[in-house]
Amino acid sequence: MKCGLCLPLCPTYAQTRNEADSPRGRISLVQGWVNGDLAMTSKLAGHLDSCLTCRACETGCPSLVTFGRIMDGAKARRVASLSRWRRALNQTWIAALSNPRINANLGRFARSYAHSALARLARWLRLDRHPRLSPFLRLTGAIAVNARTFIPETRESSDIELFVGCSGETAQGGAIAAAMEVFERLGIRADLPGTASCCGAMLRHNGFSDAAQSHRNARIEAGSNRPLVGLSSACIAELRESPEPADAWEICDYLDRQSWPEALQLHPLQARVLVHEPCSHRNLLGGNASVHHLLARIPELELAPMPENHRCCGAAGTYLLQQPEMAAALLADKLDPALAAAPDIIVTTNSGCALHLLAGVQEAGRSVEVIHPVELLARQMPS
Ligand code: SF4
Ligand code: SF4
Repeated sequence: MKCGLCLPLCPTYAQTRNEADSPRGRISLVQGWVNGDLAMTSKLAGHLDSCLTCRACETGCPSLVTFGRIMDGAKARRVASLSRWRRALNQTWIAALSNPRINANLGRFARSYAHSALARLARWLRLDRHPRLSPFLRLTGAIAVNARTFIPETRESSDIELFVGCSGETAQGGAIAAAMEVFERLGIRADLPGTASCCGAMLRHNGFSDAAQSHRNARIEAGSNRPLVGLSSACIAELRESPEPADAWEICDYLDRQSWPEALQLHPLQARVLVHEPCSHRNLLGGNASVHHLLARIPELELAPMPENHRCCGAAGTYLLQQPEMAAALLADKLDPALAAAPDIIVTTNSGCALHLLAGVQEAGRSVEVIHPVELLARQMPS
C-alpha cells in the first residue's frame, strides 16, 4: 500500500517537502536497500536518520504498517554492517546515556558548569556554536535546572514502584519528590528503589536491540508483582512494547484512575499553563487526556493544549543530539507559537522533551517554567 495518508502526519516531511523524508519514501528506501537495488549511501542514510521515530505516521495508516519496527529493524541492520570498532564506539556513547549513574554525574556536572567561569569561557571561545558541541552544551542550562539527587524510599511492602528511568534524576529531578508526595497524599504506598534502571529505548532506536533487550530483561528480573508507574511517557511506552509487556503505567494516567479523597482540595493558582503532549503519550499511550483531568483539579488554572501538539518537538531520545538542525526547526515551529501565548508554565510528561523545550525557552530569553504535571499537583497540595 502506498496511499500516502501518512505524509501530512510526518513532521520531517512537513519541513522538507521531500518524499524521501516521508514515511512512504523511507519505506521505499528501506525496501530498495534490503532488496539490493539501492546502496546505503550517506544520502540515503541521511533520509533514514532524519526520521524521529515519533510514529505519528502509524496513527493514520489504514494498513496498520508498523513503521517504528521497520525503522528500528533497518537501523539494527545498518549497525550490524558497521566495522567492529565503529559499532563499539557508537554503542559506548548510547550506553553511557542510558546509564543512570553516568546520567546522575552529568547532572551534577551541569549544575556546577552552567553558571561557572568555564561556561563563560566556552561561550567566549564560541564553543557553544561549535556544530558538534552545541547540541550538548545547550542542554546544560536545562539540566542544571532539573537535576536533583533523589532519596530512595524503599518499603517492606508497597502498592507500586516508581520508575524514574536512566535520566529521571537528571531531567526530571523535581518530579521524583513531587510524585512521591502525591502518592503519599492519595494513600498509595510507593517504592522508590535506590538503583534506577533503564527501559532500553535509546539503545533500541539506535540499532542496539540486544543491549536494549538486556536492559528490559534486567528490569523484568528485578521487578516484583507491583505495577511500575513511570515519570516519563517514553519509558513507559517502551516497557509496554517489549515482547513481555510490563504492567507499566504513565504516572498521570495512573493517578487519574485513582480515587482522590474528597478532602484533598488543591490550592488555586492563577497561571496560564500549556500542556505539551509528547509523541510517546499521543501516539503510543493513547493521548494525555489524564494530564488535563488532573490539572483541572487546580482551581483558577488557565489550561490549554500547547499549540502544534500534533507535531514532534524534535527531542526524540538522542535525535536532538544527532540531528540538531532538524530538532531546532521542529522546536521553533512548536515553541514560537507557545511563547506567543505568554504561558507561565509548560508541562510535559516526557523527560527528553522537557530538556529540549526548556533549552529553547532559555535560548529565547524567557522565564517560562517547564515542569512535569505532578510537580504542579504537588505544589498545590493543601498543607
Ligand atoms: S516516525 Fe515520525 S518522522 Fe518518522 S516517518 Fe513517521 S511521522 Fe515521519
Ligand atoms: S505507510 Fe500506511 S499510510 Fe503511509 S503510504 Fe503506506 S499504507 Fe499509506
